[in-house]
Amino acid sequence: MASSDPGAGTDGYLAYSYLEPPLALPFPLAPELGRVPPYDGGLTADERARADRLLRENVVISLHDHPVRFPADMADTPAYNRTGRQHTAYAGLAASGLTVVFDNLMDGTACVTGHAPWRWDDVVTDLGMRQADLAHQDRVVVVRTVADVARVKAEGRVGLVLGLEAATPIENEVERLDVLHGLGLRQIGIAYSDSNALGSGLAEPRDGGLTSFGRRAVRRMNQLGLAIDVSHSSPQTALDVCAVSDRPVLLTHGGARAVWDIPRMMPDDVLRAVAGTGGVIGISAAPHTTVSTAHPRHSIASVMDHAEHVAALVGVEHLGFGPDTLYGDHVGLHTVFADLMGGATVGAPPHERVPYVDGLENPTECFANIAGWLVQHGWSDDDVALVLGANALRALGETWLP
Ligand SMILES: [Zn+2]
Repeated sequence: MASSDPGAGTDGYLAYSYLEPPLALPFPLAPELGRVPPYDGGLTADERARADRLLRENVVISLHDHPVRFPADMADTPAYNRTGRQHTAYAGLAASGLTVVFDNLMDGTACVTGHAPWRWDDVVTDLGMRQADLAHQDRVVVVRTVADVARVKAEGRVGLVLGLEAATPIENEVERLDVLHGLGLRQIGIAYSDSNALGSGLAEPRDGGLTSFGRRAVRRMNQLGLAIDVSHSSPQTALDVCAVSDRPVLLTHGGARAVWDIPRMMPDDVLRAVAGTGGVIGISAAPHTTVSTAHPRHSIASVMDHAEHVAALVGVEHLGFGPDTLYGDHVGLHTVFADLMGGATVGAPPHERVPYVDGLENPTECFANIAGWLVQHGWSDDDVALVLGANALRALGETWLP
């Protein structure tokens, strides 16, 4: 799948190259291909061929990633984000085998005009700026409907679902959900680590669940066909959302607390509640999150321990993947934004620190290696098709407007 030609499969367009004079960032960006050595999953030639065929034949949906290039030195990211312009990784996406990727924009690091994320103006800047750049090419396009997904698959393009990891920017105005939907957003989280007007985040010392305003917001999200994500919400908030929502609820990127006991992972009752709505649980691979007791060095094996737990708990029809990767040093990102992202992994059992998660380092390699691992471990073609994208597509069909 992956190619060594950085322009392969694209029209050669580079992010923001329409600007005159060209945007001159005072620091280099991480490469889209080849930042880390290629992963060797030890597949036989037949296994590799079968995995590649499954990627080609099926709709492949990443429920959560950041398919953009970060600075080569992550310490430059605050200055990078203040430009308002994160650079879509066009060549990396073209080589990924992905049909659709949920693109969560600058998320908890959207600090364009200040040093705290989630300001309304910053989020709107991020949404508009990325789409202004996307409009200059047609290999990577924003998808807003299930019909759009079918179209990009048929045409061999890559679709982006625009998402936000928290509804914090709407403050106390339900109507801003309509505005975000109008700007192309199709997935939204309730709260991030900190609580907001809708509900509790996952890093709070007390779990207040979904607020009255949060209940009104969930109803509006349902009416708008805005997919709801509870990945960073507190467990009680997630349970309340599942009880209130009349559409499938997504946990786009997470894992099981039964497998690795940190706040960022969800207890089994939340995983069951998400599945009970018809939702899908996407397994994350963000460094030092989906570790497991059996595999305390974060790897594709520990990520799959979470996937197999979820499949056994709620059924394979509620499993997917949201690797939460990006183009650049993700471990470095966690260090630079420790004050904004800390709290999710406090109290983790002892485990080895890794520079990156081998095999799940960036959006280009993730799904080729996930498909490879599933083939290698005896999964049927039908089950692989479900977890690569069919489950997510079904849930979106029950959520989005036609
Ligand atoms: Zn996240």
